[in-house]
Amino acid sequence: MRRDTIPYPTITWPEGKTFAFSAFDDTDLETMENAPPVYAFMRDLGFRTTKSVWPVRGSQTPKLGGTTCADPEYAEWALQLQDEGFEIGLHNVTYHTSSRSEILDGLEQFKELFGHYPRTHANHYGCEDAIYWGPDRTSGLQRAIYRTLTAVRRNGMPGGHVEGSPLFWGDHCRERIDYVRNFVYGDINTLKACPFMPYHDPLRPFVNEWFASSEGAHVDSFVKTISEARQDRLETEGGACIMYTHFGFSFFKDGRLDSRFKALMERLSNKNGWFVPVSTLLDYLKQQRGPHHITGRERRRLERKWILQKLRTRGTT
Ligand SMILES: [Zn+2]
Repeated sequence: MRRDTIPYPTITWPEGKTFAFSAFDDTDLETMENAPPVYAFMRDLGFRTTKSVWPVRGSQTPKLGGTTCADPEYAEWALQLQDEGFEIGLHNVTYHTSSRSEILDGLEQFKELFGHYPRTHANHYGCEDAIYWGPDRTSGLQRAIYRTLTAVRRNGMPGGHVEGSPLFWGDHCRERIDYVRNFVYGDINTLKACPFMPYHDPLRPFVNEWFASSEGAHVDSFVKTISEARQDRLETEGGACIMYTHFGFSFFKDGRLDSRFKALMERLSNKNGWFVPVSTLLDYLKQQRGPHHITGRERRRLERKWILQKLRTRGTT
C-alpha cells in the first residue's frame, strides 16, 4: 500500500442510488440577476444542494460582496429555495469581519428568517471572525509550509475560535452549527480524498464536524472537476461529491448559462445519483459509519494532500 493511500469506505446509498452528489455554493457576487437562473436549472434537473447566505447587510465596503438577506426580494427567494428542498447554509454573518455581538445577532436573524440555525458553514474570504482559518486550517509542519506558501507570517487570524478575542463565537458555532468546510481537493470523489468525513478534530474543538469538498470555485474549474470521465468514475466508485463553488462566478452570464456547465449537469442528472443537500449527505455518512474523531496521522494525511494539491493547481480554496 502506498503511504498516502487511505482506505476507502464502501457506502450503500439510500433508494438504490449508486453514488451521491451535492454542492456548497459560496454566495460571493450572487445577485437576483445571476443566481436564480442557476437554481431554477438545478431544481428542474432534480438537484437539491446547499446555498450559503449572508443574513446581514454589511456596513463596510466588502473585499468581495454580494446580495444579503437584508434585501427582501433576495430573502424571499432564499426562503423559496428552502421550501423547494435546498439547504440554506452560512457564510459568516456578512461579507466583512463582524464582532461577537454582531455575529450572535446575525445568527438570530438567520433563525428568524429560515426558522432554524444554519447546519452548515463555510468561512468567507477576508473575514477575520472566520473559524480556524488561514494558517489555523493546518497543524504543525503543514502550518509552517502553508504560511510560507501564502506569505502569511502571523500565527493565525484573531479568529472566531480564539477565546477572549472580540471576534470569538466558537461557543455558538459549536452549539448551533453541525458541519464546517475545510479542505478542498481536485478529484470529483470527495469521499475518496477524505474518507473520514464528517469528522471531529480534537485540536479544533469549536467545530462539531468538518467536511471536505471538491474544487469548483469558478465555472472553469467546476466543469473540469465534473468532466464526463470523472462523472463516470464517481459512479463506478460509488463515491460522494461535494462541489465547493461560487454560482455567482460566471455560471450565468450575458443572459445564459455556461454551455459546458449546462451539458455536464444535464448528463449527471441522468445518472442514478442521490442529489441531496450537504447536511443530508453528511448525516447519512455519519449514520452509516458512526462519528469519527480524526487521529494525528489522518490529519497529517489530509493536510499534506491538500497542500500538495494547492501547489499543483494553485487552487484558491
Ligand atoms: Zn466567500
